[in-house]
Amino acid sequence: MKSFMKRHSAEARPLKPASLYRVYADLKKRFGHQNWWPGETPFEVMVGAILTQNTAWSNVEKAIRNLKEKHALNPDKMRGMSSRRLAALIKPAGFFNVKTRRLKAFVRYFHDNYRSQIKLMKRRPAAVLRRELLAVHGIGEETADSILLYALNKSQFVIDAYTKRIFMRHRLNETSDAAGTSLDYGAWKNLFVSALPRSVKLYNDYHAQIVMLGKTYCKSAQPKCYECPLSKYL
Ligand code: SF4
Repeated sequence: MKSFMKRHSAEARPLKPASLYRVYADLKKRFGHQNWWPGETPFEVMVGAILTQNTAWSNVEKAIRNLKEKHALNPDKMRGMSSRRLAALIKPAGFFNVKTRRLKAFVRYFHDNYRSQIKLMKRRPAAVLRRELLAVHGIGEETADSILLYALNKSQFVIDAYTKRIFMRHRLNETSDAAGTSLDYGAWKNLFVSALPRSVKLYNDYHAQIVMLGKTYCKSAQPKCYECPLSKYL
C-alpha cells in the first residue's frame, strides 16, 4: 500500500490522453452506468447545478426537497417569489443569499430569452447558449457545462475539482500544480474533448464516473490506490 501512496503523486507514469477512453471503460466496469444527473426534470437539473456550487450534494437535495414541498421548483414561481422566501427554502444548500441572487438571475434570463421553456432553449446551438449562460450572474464554466450537458443534452464535457485532482495525480496534465489549477478550465476540458468521441451519452457518464471515483477512492486525503480501478495506470 505504501508504494501506491508514493506513486500516486510524483512517481506515477504520465497518463496519455489516448488512454482516456480506456480509463472510462475501467470505471464503468467497476461502478456500472451511473444514470446521471440526479434530477427529475431539466429545470431541476439546472437549479441543482447552481445550488451545488461549493456544497455537498446531500445539502442540495434538502434544498430541492424544500422547493418541491412548497411547489416552488418552477421557473415562473421562482421568478415571482420574494428573494427572502426563496433564500429560506434553499438555506440547506449554504451561501443561500448568494445562491438566491444567482437563481433569480438565471430564471430571469430563462424567462426573458426562452419564455421559461426548455424546448426553446434546446434549439439554440451549444456555443451560443454557453456564451449566454456565462453572462448570467454567478454562472461559471462548470455550472454552464453542467446545465448544457445534463439539462439540455449538449455535448459539453464538465470539468470539476474531482477531475482535476484525479488526473493531476495521474499526471495527465503535466503543467498543473498540486491543486490542478495551473491549466485553466478550457485547457482541462480540451484534454478530454480532443481524446474522446463527441457524445452526450459518453460525456454524461464519464463525468458521473469521475465523481464516483473521487468520492470513493481518489479522496483528497489518503486516496485508496491499492484497491482503485485506476491503480494499473500508476
Ligand atoms: S485514481 Fe485511484 S489509483 Fe489514481 S491516484 Fe486516485 S485513488 Fe490512486
